[in-house]
Amino acid sequence: MENSFVTFDEKNSRFDKPVSILVVDDDERARESLSVLLKRQWEDITEAEDGEVAISLIQQRQFKIIILDLNMPKKSGDQVLAFIKEKKINTTVIVLSGETSINKVTEAVRLGAYDIFKKPYSFDELEHAIRNALDKSRIEEEKARIQNRLAHSEQLHRYMVDNSPDLIYILNLRGEFSFVNDSVTKLLGYDKSDLLGMHYSHFIADEDRMKAEYLFNERRRASRSNQTIELGLKCNSTDPSKPFDVSVRPIELNSMGIYSVDVNDSKKVSTYQGTYGVARDISSRKKAEKLITFQAYHDLLTKLPNRVMLLDRLDLAIKQSVRTSETLIVMFLDLDRFKLINDSFGHVVGDQLLVEVADRLKDEIRTGDTLARLGGDEFMLLLPQPTTREQAESVAQKLIASLRQPFFLRNKEVYINVSIGIAVFPDDSADINTLIKNADMAMYEVKSTGKNGYTFYDDKLEHAAAEKISIESGLRNALKNNELEIFYQPQYNSLSRRIVGVEALLRWNHPHLGLRAPGYFIEQAEESRIIQQISEWVLNRVAQDLFNDARFLDSGMKVSINLSASDIRQRDFPENLVTFTENFGIDPGRLGIEITENMFMSDIQACTHKLQVLSNRGISIAIDDFGTGYSSLNYLRELPVHTVKIDYSFVSEIEHSRKGAALVAAIVGMAHGLGIDIIAEGVENASQSEYLEGLGCHTMQGFLYSKPLRVDKFLNAVASQQNIISKLSG
Ligand code: C2E
Ligand code: MG
Ligand code: MG
Repeated sequence: MENSFVTFDEKNSRFDKPVSILVVDDDERARESLSVLLKRQWEDITEAEDGEVAISLIQQRQFKIIILDLNMPKKSGDQVLAFIKEKKINTTVIVLSGETSINKVTEAVRLGAYDIFKKPYSFDELEHAIRNALDKSRIEEEKARIQNRLAHSEQLHRYMVDNSPDLIYILNLRGEFSFVNDSVTKLLGYDKSDLLGMHYSHFIADEDRMKAEYLFNERRRASRSNQTIELGLKCNSTDPSKPFDVSVRPIELNSMGIYSVDVNDSKKVSTYQGTYGVARDISSRKKAEKLITFQAYHDLLTKLPNRVMLLDRLDLAIKQSVRTSETLIVMFLDLDRFKLINDSFGHVVGDQLLVEVADRLKDEIRTGDTLARLGGDEFMLLLPQPTTREQAESVAQKLIASLRQPFFLRNKEVYINVSIGIAVFPDDSADINTLIKNADMAMYEVKSTGKNGYTFYDDKLEHAAAEKISIESGLRNALKNNELEIFYQPQYNSLSRRIVGVEALLRWNHPHLGLRAPGYFIEQAEESRIIQQISEWVLNRVAQDLFNDARFLDSGMKVSINLSASDIRQRDFPENLVTFTENFGIDPGRLGIEITENMFMSDIQACTHKLQVLSNRGISIAIDDFGTGYSSLNYLRELPVHTVKIDYSFVSEIEHSRKGAALVAAIVGMAHGLGIDIIAEGVENASQSEYLEGLGCHTMQGFLYSKPLRVDKFLNAVASQQNIISKLSG
């Protein structure tokens, strides 16, 4: 694009120079006297004595006016006129002639003479003619300058229009393009000629046609001068193999009606001529808006809908269900052991697992269903189409089965389970929040009864939940009101028939319900984190009950206390326990702790370290309920374990099944092999104790020997066997 307008300089066209006049006459006297007269008015007067001199002067410089005699030697006036005409020289020629034959005059006019004077002439008239000629030429020059400026101005505007990043167009009154700028190619991929003469509606995205039509008609009525709206414009398919594969470009359109007023119309009625408009590409803004909207309604990790979107869809689905009187299903999903994976593999792997879980779950659901991630390892599934309980059940089973397949993270096989709670609208609640809460409650029920499965919401869960809450508040009072108590269950050696150890077991003297065992309240204590205060209380109680009493101190036996997962998880747990023994003057060799396998599996490394600190100080460690947890025997090698306690459930199987008996035998054999002490829990009858004895498991705890006892009873029992010994030795 040439941009000559840039150098356009108005000053060049200004003509304030003195008026230059050339007087051509071979009659010297006539020439000179005319010059003298002219010089009174105009300063730049040049003389030429014949046609030849005149032509050479004209070639050298420009004269505004040439006063030309016709009859001259060498070159005649006609020849000078012919030269001027031929060379298109811009000047005004006034002819002076002795002859005024009609032929001469017409010839001179034909050759471009402005005026003709017959000699002798009146100078006043000549002067008048010169002035007229000057005026005329000034007007012409002015006109030329204006035209020049107009041309430049148009060039400038065209340049701006064509180089504008926006699409600029004019539609005629029928709605056909009568002008489009060059941007149309860059913006929509069309050639200008593709649009000219075409109706605008061909280029409007189908869904925006009505909007565009409305706008166009509104411009026609001139109800508003201009307005900005957003539209989609169809792009030209760049792939000729896919002529219908049109993409749409979002634009912001600003349009105005074009109206004209007929100057002859006295009423000055304006008539509609068409529309002028500017369309701006807003793709990047739309993209940004889309991203923001996506972020507001999606979980960025899994790209699943988030809680906001789920609530929105659920709200809609409920309204629909109310109309059709049909049911819909809400499922609450929570991964089991996800924290464990996060802790042992790190958050990056944890995130990767969540993404893969989301993908697998998505594969199992129908298109209309909404699977959302609520945060952490919690997902929610909405089945909006009418679904029976049986169908919901089969969906839950499919989801569980799909997650049961191993995941491969960092080249390791990882297994994860899911607990699913299901709530049905409107049976379980007609209220959106209660429905979700109920699904959540059902999910917790699955978790508390063994994990990996699904269950439907039930009214009874509500009571269980209410009970949980009352247990929690009750426990806080129990600590304050001194309602807790420790019972002591002796551990017997079947060979020596003596008490060789004791386990401290917590009891709650409930103000309304009487004495309660930990099964009633310990889970709630753990969930609400009251457990740590309780553990502290237990330690203090045991210290006061036993380590201040000679009967226990003299017996030389060990007391073991049960700890919970959150006790061990505390960073300074081993140091605190050691400090505790020091403050109380407790011999660490007389203290043992019992932990279950599940407690340390989440972070076996940290746990090993902590238990090692205790073990180094002489505190012994027992694995409680052995065989019911993860039972990865590997940890027995890594952890400083002194004792394994065979769980009550295995012992009770001894007489019932050969398998049960064999399992007990295997555990005992393994403990012996590893040089670890073994205690059988829950021994209730002689046949169990005989079988265990036969295996070489001589330390037993159970109702056969003694129930858990109040501290006095226990200490008396210890004293009485002490007495027997002292009697024997005495
Ligand atoms: P555990 O450590 O395995 O304790 C053994 C449980 O078996 C005790 O139940 C005991 O009363 C019961 N038991 C003993 N002999 C027999 C028997 O012959 N037959 C039957 N059926 N049961 C027998 P308890 O006292 O109800 O305690 C239950 C669990 O609560 C304990 O299991 C322990 O894991 C936990 N627990 C007890 N005291 C505390 C405590 O102070 N802190 C913590 N964190 N947990 C505790
Ligand atoms: Mg125990
Ligand atoms: Mg046990």
